[in-house]
Amino acid sequence: MSDRDELLKLTRQAREHLQWIERGGGVAVPKGSAKPAARAPSPSPSVSGKSLAMVREELGDCQRCKLAPQRKNIVFGIGSPDAPLVFVGEAPGGEEDRTGEPFVGAAGQLLTKMIQAMGLSREEVYICNILKCRPPGNRNPEPDEIEQCEPFLKKQLAAIRPRMIVALGKFAAQCLLRSDAPISRLRGRFQTYEGIPLMPTFHPAFLLRNPDAKREVWADLKLVMAELDRLGITRRA
Ligand code: URA
Repeated sequence: MSDRDELLKLTRQAREHLQWIERGGGVAVPKGSAKPAARAPSPSPSVSGKSLAMVREELGDCQRCKLAPQRKNIVFGIGSPDAPLVFVGEAPGGEEDRTGEPFVGAAGQLLTKMIQAMGLSREEVYICNILKCRPPGNRNPEPDEIEQCEPFLKKQLAAIRPRMIVALGKFAAQCLLRSDAPISRLRGRFQTYEGIPLMPTFHPAFLLRNPDAKREVWADLKLVMAELDRLGITRRA
């Protein structure tokens, strides 16, 4: 992208974000409930100016945390480097570790169906995780692992500069929003990450165990689709 195109893209994103804030930040407030505290608007210029490929190169054969010796593959992320929408999950599982691709196991297949139901494809969006290496036995990510890995996720998001983010599950939502609120409280309304509207929702693995929660996730994704449509981002109806 030329400097001029980059500048035009930034200007457009800043303008859209201000309009979005003016309209209430995309927050669906149930009647009678208090409006959540507004977050400071901060349109997100690419601080480092790095491309995704440069971020991958910087990550290298990462040995920064204790997960490295046990992994088969680093699971960096997949999809369009210019994606309007990024899905952020928790950490690779066994299948992801084996293939190096995020969300390809059972939860991943459900995520793929959700993306398709939104009129999009895996190739049109970007999919990544808070951690790039599999925690043993799929245990929860630990704080020292997040501390080492999250800076690379931030750089990926700065490189892509998506129009919207969907945080899948408690770890992604709490980590990106610097919140310790439960996902059941965070989901269902747009928050802001670095000036980008972020929708927290339940993780697809949770949906496999609790199919009834699919209804809530679909309601969250409908808010995302409405916002994509408002921004003129093409998706199949
Ligand atoms: N769960 C995640 O959070 N990420 C993956 O890549 C796979 C399963």
